[in-house]
Amino acid sequence: MIVSKFGGSSVASSEQFQKVRDIIKSNPERKVVVTSASGKRYKGDNKVTDMLYLIHAHLQYSVSSKDLFTSVQNRFIKIQEELSLKTNIAVDLEELELELTKRCSIDYLVSRGEYLTGILLADYLGYKFVDAKDIIRFNYDGSIDFEKTEMLVKDAMEQHGNIVVPGFYGAYPDGTVHVMKRGGSDITGSILARVLNAEVYENWTDVSGILMADPRIIKNPKQIEKITYSELRELSYMGANVLHEDAIYPVKDLNIPILILNTNEPEFKGTMICESILHDEAKGIITGIAGKKDFTVITLYRHNASNEVGLLRKALEVFEKYKINVEHVPSGIDNFSIVVSSKNIERVLYDVVSELKQVIQSDSVKVTSNLSLLAIVGRNMAKHVGVSGQLFKTLGEHEINIRMIAQGSDEINIIVGVENEDFEKAITVLYDTFA
Ligand code: ADP
Ligand code: ASP
Ligand code: MG
Repeated sequence: MIVSKFGGSSVASSEQFQKVRDIIKSNPERKVVVTSASGKRYKGDNKVTDMLYLIHAHLQYSVSSKDLFTSVQNRFIKIQEELSLKTNIAVDLEELELELTKRCSIDYLVSRGEYLTGILLADYLGYKFVDAKDIIRFNYDGSIDFEKTEMLVKDAMEQHGNIVVPGFYGAYPDGTVHVMKRGGSDITGSILARVLNAEVYENWTDVSGILMADPRIIKNPKQIEKITYSELRELSYMGANVLHEDAIYPVKDLNIPILILNTNEPEFKGTMICESILHDEAKGIITGIAGKKDFTVITLYRHNASNEVGLLRKALEVFEKYKINVEHVPSGIDNFSIVVSSKNIERVLYDVVSELKQVIQSDSVKVTSNLSLLAIVGRNMAKHVGVSGQLFKTLGEHEINIRMIAQGSDEINIIVGVENEDFEKAITVLYDTFA
């Protein structure tokens, strides 16, 4: 049995729905279909999920969201009409409009994108629509209750055989809707693949597999044929947002392969993600490059810092207190730095800095922002000598200043920090050197 997840662009219009149906009908093993909310139909179009978030913002400030709601409404009605579906989606839309007047929760509101898309898709495919709130269960701490979920999903499969499940949300034990992080439909697909022990988890999107670099930066990057779960996790964490990084762990220990495929080019073989690659045909040193902009580095200077037990812990506790995720901690002898996402620290930067000064008893704290982090990732890197040397040389030759460097202990990645303004150039020269 195969779990097939379709991303927003794959269900953006009635033409896209037809492609999805052709794909599903071409293999009867595709019994479980997960859908995102209808996405962009063309460049500059809006994703339904973004419109729903915007409606919520309007409601919060008591600004009329009527026009926005009408465009959401029109998109769904258009698909229903063009495909001559029996479902009367207008009724569900009316219900949503009524909920808006009752100030429904933001999670409920934004989950309606996948809910409404799922109802239409189920009708079109002739599959049973199963609401994610009835089968994807969270604990109150936000983690997935796999035991409960497994029971409910298996029940639904036994009853219906072929199902469509909206991605991105589920419910707490009391039944209230809870949404995952953005891009979370990938996680829904992965959870379903796990609890049903699927043969494969297909993730259908708008690119023919995972590319060695972001196609918005590198023109026609090479495609990756096979990649390990760990390599992909590194790449997606560092910004290669083809697949949500949290979609890996549910399938990893059961070794269920994930296939990244293109709805617009279904015959293309795509990228396979699995635990290990036995007969490794990859000749290159690296598997891929990714990166993210906008990090802040806080550097703490203190004489003899490296000999003082507990100094680093004290500093990290400050970040823990403010619930700020620490990305990297590069260190020197009399100093160490803490790298965090600028967005996460923005609001509390001055509080954090003054507390750090207190606990470290140092007046010398330097804050630099506008840092980008780039990762070069590859399972074959450990086997090659001189990769970091080559990396320094390449960046140096192009006058790109390296602000930080870190390597994971399993040697599948090297991370470098550069100025935001050098970001695209650094990705380009590294791609040219290593890919
Ligand atoms: P979906 O809506 O199907 O979930 P996403 O937009 O979440 O699709 O993910 C696919 C997009 O990821 C591609 O359109 C591409 O722009 C982007 N992307 C970023 N890095 C990469 C990469 N290394 N390989 C392929 N696509 C990438
Ligand atoms: N629709 C949600 C989002 O835009 C979830 C998803 O597409 O995976 O983030
Ligand atoms: Mg996605």
